[in-house]
Amino acid sequence: MMENLKILGAPGRYVQGQGALSCVPALVGELGASAYVLTDAVVGDLLGDVLSRGFGDADIEAEFGLFQGECTRAEIERQTELARQAGSAVVVGVGGGKTIDTAKGISLFLGLPLVVVPSVASNDAPTSRLIVIYDADHRISEVLKLPHNPAAVVADTGIIASAPPRFLIAGIGDALAKKFEAGQCAKTGAQNFFGGLPTATALLLCEACYTTIRQHGLDAVAAVRQGRVDESVEQIVEATVLLSGLGFESGGLALAHGLNRGLTAQPETQKALHGELVAWGLLVQLLAEGRDPEFMEDMLGFYSAIGLPRCMADLGLVNPDEAVIDAIATITFEESPYLKNMERRLSAQDIAASMRELETLTA
Ligand SMILES: [Zn+2]
Repeated sequence: MMENLKILGAPGRYVQGQGALSCVPALVGELGASAYVLTDAVVGDLLGDVLSRGFGDADIEAEFGLFQGECTRAEIERQTELARQAGSAVVVGVGGGKTIDTAKGISLFLGLPLVVVPSVASNDAPTSRLIVIYDADHRISEVLKLPHNPAAVVADTGIIASAPPRFLIAGIGDALAKKFEAGQCAKTGAQNFFGGLPTATALLLCEACYTTIRQHGLDAVAAVRQGRVDESVEQIVEATVLLSGLGFESGGLALAHGLNRGLTAQPETQKALHGELVAWGLLVQLLAEGRDPEFMEDMLGFYSAIGLPRCMADLGLVNPDEAVIDAIATITFEESPYLKNMERRLSAQDIAASMRELETLTA
């Protein structure tokens, strides 16, 4: 019955700015008196002391968990057990997309509220309910959903801007696709991640996401390279974390994200970031949509200027043979739930043809 209704979902609170990390203990305090704080080793070294002190000052008991690097079922179950033993009332995930998704898994299994603190703006994970789980070989194995979006998302632009620029560039790639993926969903009447139709608001958010990136993307990357946080960085962090997250979850996804299934099945792409895979997937989608050469030229020019991947070699697939291209197209065709959201009915051969067209265009 819900499928004919328009639905939009969002986190309970979104906080952004330099020094925003300092408000995490107060936000957690609104939800409970103790927290299980998940970080990886690098983020723990960088922010563990500041967080510990903040929780101490706020009289919140904080137990720190060390994320092992891949968001697998086994890792989520292990961390869930540790959080259960600690008796924590709130889960806090501080780090990249996979740390955040593992924290979401703990929150799901224990039924606890979640606060998300992205240390990089490389992907659309922070605001959403989705949990992308991988197997031990780093291939996507399943996608789970929290009953609700995170209670709060805190984006500290000072921390995000101090990460290597590659992360922000990947986030830009992930965000760039939203307008075109939601655009396809709107045309086909596809359901968003809440099982409803996209609101006009969701489509406006995707549009704003795209125009913000085209307007401020290059300036923001230049600023981050110089270690500066300026208004362009603020605009781009909001686009890559908030608009991109709301856009996909309430707008819907299509081929650009669908290709992740085929790409992550190739071990050579393991070092590529989610947003880099999506950025390349968007180019394939645009060709499959039949966009004209001027449009593609403009888009490819932006990719070059900002440093996003344009060809398969940029993703680690150097000189891919025909069989690799066919394998990626076939796995995408067989496994991706987003292909049906495309206006044009695509076969595995159609996907492979668009991939080959892109390889020729960018050779
Ligand atoms: Zn994404």
